[in-house]
Amino acid sequence: MREAFEIGNARIDAGTMGRAALHVGPAADGRSREIPLLICHGAKDGPVVWINGATHGDEPEGAFSIFRLFDALDAAQVSGTVVGVPAMNVPAFEAGKRGDPLDSFTYDMNRMYPGRADGYPTERAAWAHWVAMKDTCDLQIAIHSGGEHSFLAHMIFASDNPQSLELAAAMGEPWDLVFRSGVGGGNPASQMAELGKAGITVELGGNCRTLTSDFHTVADDLAAGYLNVMRHYGMVSGEAAYAPEWRMGHQQALLAPASGMWVGDAGVTFETAMPAGTPLGKIYDLYGDVRADVVAPEDGLVFGLRSRPAVIEGEWCCFYGIIDEVRNDLIPE
Ligand SMILES: [Zn+2]
Repeated sequence: MREAFEIGNARIDAGTMGRAALHVGPAADGRSREIPLLICHGAKDGPVVWINGATHGDEPEGAFSIFRLFDALDAAQVSGTVVGVPAMNVPAFEAGKRGDPLDSFTYDMNRMYPGRADGYPTERAAWAHWVAMKDTCDLQIAIHSGGEHSFLAHMIFASDNPQSLELAAAMGEPWDLVFRSGVGGGNPASQMAELGKAGITVELGGNCRTLTSDFHTVADDLAAGYLNVMRHYGMVSGEAAYAPEWRMGHQQALLAPASGMWVGDAGVTFETAMPAGTPLGKIYDLYGDVRADVVAPEDGLVFGLRSRPAVIEGEWCCFYGIIDEVRNDLIPE
């Protein structure tokens, strides 16, 4: 009989689903501040995958897609363990903001992870998560989106080690944009890679797509990716599917060259190659005059675009990708 999975305040028997909470600290009214976890502890041995949602509180796609995945799992048929974290940064999620509005010193959990036990409030939450994850995780998937200001299409930032590139490829057919990111940086994927494990940051969605069926479409798309990962690593039965090749490159953030109202070009298509100079959008002032045109800086593609029209000079208006190489060898033989 496989051993129970012990985490936070819970012990989950093999072949069952359960929940747990990570204690972060006390709230003013005496309650425990907690990070909720969903756990599927499979009947048979296998890898442990952590799926981390809402490091940024305005990005709810992780939470909903984890709920969708858990609807589809049967622990009796799973080899390995899935830990779903719907919201790593609970106060930020409650506020619908990127960070905890009450923590102005370490606002962005995805820049200071894994935090510290005796640090600022967000650092303590990050630390509680890291202590629980670091020794139990083989495969780490962090879910992000464009949040309250942007939309992001299928895109993966994979830590630069072979384990992470394989995990990125295991997300399946829609995920052929894979950009390398650093190892040892202040986010969960990077920290896992420093331990020689697999860590990826996945981008899909934004608050402009959280209305009715649109939100289901995005969440189901992500959940299908997690299931493909589980098939690839033999955690559930079935054949994994893969992109035929992977476009790898680097991001060029296009920042607003003027303040006013951002309007994306009606012809923009996501994830599609375009030549330098292709119109991406305009920024109007409030007299209706165009203050700036934003165009593709080089041959490349758009993987994200601002969805909130009000813009201040220097804010994000386009997530632009430059493709450096196309590879077909991310899955080891
Ligand atoms: Zn994010």
